[in-house]
Amino acid sequence: SPTIDPQGPDAKRPAARARVPVLLPLPLAQAYDYAVPEGWPVPPPGTIVAAPLGGRVLAGVVWDGPGDGSVPEAKLRPLAALLPVPPMTEALRRLIAFVARWTLAPPGAVLRMALPVPAALEAPKPRFGLVLAPGVEVGSLPKARARVAAVLTEAPVPWAAAELARAAGVGPGVVSSMRNAGLLVAVPIPEAAALPDLTTGSPPVLSPAQAEAARVLRAAVAERRPGATLLDGVTGSGKTEVYLEAVAEAVAHGRQALVLLPEIALSAQVIERFRQRFGSAPAVWHSELSTARRRDTWRAVAEGRAPIVVGARSALFLPFPDLGVIVVDEEHEAAFKQEEGVTYHARDMALVRAHLSGIPAILVSATPSLETLANVERGRHARLHLPSRHGSAGMPQVEAIDLRATPPARGQFLSPPLVAAIEEALGRGEQALLFLNRRGFAPLTLCRACGHRFQCPNCTAWLVEHRYVKRLECHHCGHAEPVPEACPACGAEGALTPVGPGVERIAAECRERFPGARIAEMSSDTIHGAHSAAHYAAMIERREVDLVIGTQLVAKGWHFPHLTLVGVVDADLGLAGGDLRAAERSFQLLHQVGGRAGRADRPGRVLLQTWAPDQRVMRALVSGDIDRFVAEEMAERQAGGWPPYGRLAALIVSAAEASVADAAALALRRAAPGRGGEGEGFRVLGPAPAPLAVLRGQHRRRLLLKASRSTDVQALLRDWLSRAEVPRAARVEVDVDPVSF
Ligand code: ADP
Ligand code: ZN
Repeated sequence: SPTIDPQGPDAKRPAARARVPVLLPLPLAQAYDYAVPEGWPVPPPGTIVAAPLGGRVLAGVVWDGPGDGSVPEAKLRPLAALLPVPPMTEALRRLIAFVARWTLAPPGAVLRMALPVPAALEAPKPRFGLVLAPGVEVGSLPKARARVAAVLTEAPVPWAAAELARAAGVGPGVVSSMRNAGLLVAVPIPEAAALPDLTTGSPPVLSPAQAEAARVLRAAVAERRPGATLLDGVTGSGKTEVYLEAVAEAVAHGRQALVLLPEIALSAQVIERFRQRFGSAPAVWHSELSTARRRDTWRAVAEGRAPIVVGARSALFLPFPDLGVIVVDEEHEAAFKQEEGVTYHARDMALVRAHLSGIPAILVSATPSLETLANVERGRHARLHLPSRHGSAGMPQVEAIDLRATPPARGQFLSPPLVAAIEEALGRGEQALLFLNRRGFAPLTLCRACGHRFQCPNCTAWLVEHRYVKRLECHHCGHAEPVPEACPACGAEGALTPVGPGVERIAAECRERFPGARIAEMSSDTIHGAHSAAHYAAMIERREVDLVIGTQLVAKGWHFPHLTLVGVVDADLGLAGGDLRAAERSFQLLHQVGGRAGRADRPGRVLLQTWAPDQRVMRALVSGDIDRFVAEEMAERQAGGWPPYGRLAALIVSAAEASVADAAALALRRAAPGRGGEGEGFRVLGPAPAPLAVLRGQHRRRLLLKASRSTDVQALLRDWLSRAEVPRAARVEVDVDPVSF
């Protein structure tokens, strides 16, 4: 009987070429298939490859599972190269897939965060250095050449030509002539692959409470025990010292440690603490790094040469081959949420990465998020608590200044009790911090003659006066214009009036009030990156500054031993607006700011200027009763079914034309899941104007999906979006678990 050819009738056809799915770092929904060129090994999932797309060649990752399979074999394009970098681990590939599913972003868009620098994927160019050619008779050389030879016999490593000449004390011509004569040869310089020595630092002697917490965390890291632990305790209670112990344990086992910080670029002091504890600096990862630094750091992480990485949220996607622990410091910070592109929350996804890697995660905060506290309550996270400030430092005394009773003078913003307290502190040679979370001179400029208000042409926002640069600026889109002499609406001259304070205006008031005081203004207008932040911090530490006036840049993380007074210029500022988390945020921020006072041996004092001293947040800050505040806030969220007791997702519709935005929002509303947007465990709210109804010239509407915790929100959203017929001129963005709205 005839044998059956499994290939079908066309038996002469060459054997099928291997095809592999490759995910490319572009907003693509799936991996594309590529042919493996003949004679190549079939690259396993995780291999980093170069693949052609259109006219380009891109770095991508051999992905798991089937590819698109739609391209007929004859048309399949071949891989261009297998790149000489360590493969992407399965844990990272699964994290990317998870983040894509969770945020409804295309997996390729998530991959882009994990392959951020194409150049990092190229093999490093070998560098060359000079050594003595074998067999050279050193004794027979003339004097200048002999000196070069002497250096090379003493230090037989590859030398750069210029350095060699300098070390030998000869001109560069001597070295090049020796090279031409074949007395010196060039050999590749090995890459600086040495692990930093992390054993020369000095751990402090821990307090009993710290030691106990450190013991528990060290054990979890040593045993690779998965699960998350909340490490909480007031500001200055020594939490950082405790988590550094967990980091040390990971490193001691030859594993890597990742510490996520909000606004890393500004945490020079934190990085310095790592250096002191471990004897050498950690690898640092954030958006301001130069391309060269990104490439080197990415490679160092991938090759296991960076034992400790301190980074902003995107460090979550670095290619650690063997992670031992993830720490999220200041876990309550909204800065961990990425608001554009892939809208992921780095704290939540850090928990996912730790889970996928089977390692412990540590969430650190003096004022934990309600999400994390709810997880503790549900028994999902463990909790370690440090009860008091380290050493002799007590908690600062917090008082509210009732602005109704003691208002500032007209056109001023510091009330008499606050002025008196600043004078006292300065008189004792101590430092004071005035906090106002608003850049610029004044948030609103209006014309006294006609009432005209300066409004951004592109956004639903006022223009903020910046007096040093003499401009009116929009803080949302970057629009800027000069401050005019006359009102553009009525032509009146000299009638433009600033309304309300920004830090520049508070600084001006202070220069008048406290003429001898040395004042430092710290905001993103004066601080550009890690360098200037460190510069300011050093000045404050050296006591070259008496009075610090700052935005939230100074609120967090800093440790200034001589700072004893914190004045909050407008404690009510964060409570305006209808945001679900306004009270929680305000409490966290003001508690953090207050925590800057009295961190060493002299007692601290915090004064809150408020028009509503009976408001819940003010009472909680004054009493210091965090637990009660949390209990009240939780009860409200639970009663309303809001997070962390329910789930939310937002759909933001935007379009250049208001009518298109409205039509798109209505189309979404019509396609809403359930009956009229209501179903088992969920409800659709809106559309309503988004909090910034016009932003960068785009009209924005918002719909909210509010659901129970057990609802599969992603499935509802996917189904919803697939059915809605949204006008093409409109854009829909999905924000699962929005942090602000
Ligand atoms: P937190 O992270 O809770 O705000 P830190 O770890 O920053 O607290 O500690 C506050 C201050 O106390 C820091 O200056 C830190 O160096 C110091 N400190 C904390 N624990 C110790 C200790 N066991 N020995 C000496 N100094 C300590
Ligand atoms: Zn604007």
